[in-house]
Amino acid sequence: MAVSVLLVHSERFAEHQTPPGHPERPERAEVMDAIAGRWRARGVEIVAPRLATHEQLARVHDGEYLRRIGETVGRATALDPDTYTSPESHEIALLAAGAGIDAVERVIGASHLAAVALVRPPGHHAERDRAMGFCLLNNVAVAAAHARALGTARVAIVDYDVHHGNGTQHIFEADPHVLYVSMHQHPYYPGTGASGEVGRDAGRGFTVNLPLEVGAVDEDCQTVFAGVVIPVLRQFEPDLVIVSAGFDAHEDDPLGGMRLTTPAFAAMMSELRAVAEECCRGRMIAIVEGGYDLHALGASLDATIETLDGPPSPAAWPSSGIASSRGRDSVKAARLALAPFWTITE
Ligand SMILES: [Zn+2]
Repeated sequence: MAVSVLLVHSERFAEHQTPPGHPERPERAEVMDAIAGRWRARGVEIVAPRLATHEQLARVHDGEYLRRIGETVGRATALDPDTYTSPESHEIALLAAGAGIDAVERVIGASHLAAVALVRPPGHHAERDRAMGFCLLNNVAVAAAHARALGTARVAIVDYDVHHGNGTQHIFEADPHVLYVSMHQHPYYPGTGASGEVGRDAGRGFTVNLPLEVGAVDEDCQTVFAGVVIPVLRQFEPDLVIVSAGFDAHEDDPLGGMRLTTPAFAAMMSELRAVAEECCRGRMIAIVEGGYDLHALGASLDATIETLDGPPSPAAWPSSGIASSRGRDSVKAARLALAPFWTITE
């Protein structure tokens, strides 16, 4: 069945400023403005987010941390060696987290509706009590916790940013109601995300890590999707799928060392959409994380929105002609680590 797509976007995202030369530069917001404008002209609904509330943030962040970042209002500061605020950043971070909240409320209340939140700053490195890696508030975690608070039984988060989402993993690692699946370059920043990290206590098995050695190509990504991501999602049967949509695994990205092409981002989204159609009437949300080559970011975001909007089509995986040795290694390691929890066949 056809899915309608909704974009959550604010032109104010550009007000989060970083020092000159920092990869999280304001031009990223201009790319998102241009995309929102193009899709508006094609009839896609664009909504402006509200600010996330303290109560919504406090589900996943410490009160003391929220107080501390509240003190950055009106000031330019460095929260860690990579993470900066401009005088407006606190408010913009509240809008980014609020975009996830808005997306959840609209998608949960509907059927066959997907939402893409075109936000910055990104969120998946933000820990419960710490800003990190360009991230102030964990937008995806705030959204998943909001869906749970609204009565959603099982939320799956799929993170294909080139970096591991340490913050998201840690926030939900003991929670069996929120599945976290990450495919990322490893070893690499932030250092977490080995295949043996499977969650703890009641959440054991509900953290799934798919590390890929530097240089991974489209075939590696296809291999881990077919071998682990899709089978585990089918067994989990999510009521909502949230995608931590980073585009820094693109071959043109200046930070990441993976070699994915733009069509691979469309193929991943097709696969995830098919699972969402099967399990939860197409309800899914994508929230933007990294992606630092402006052209690759724009093209991949366009391909993502195109894939979510309209009737479903089978995933068209591109071919680089390079054998998928990294993907097979990752699937093998995941199978060993996850055998007690999920059926992952050869
Ligand atoms: Zn990233």
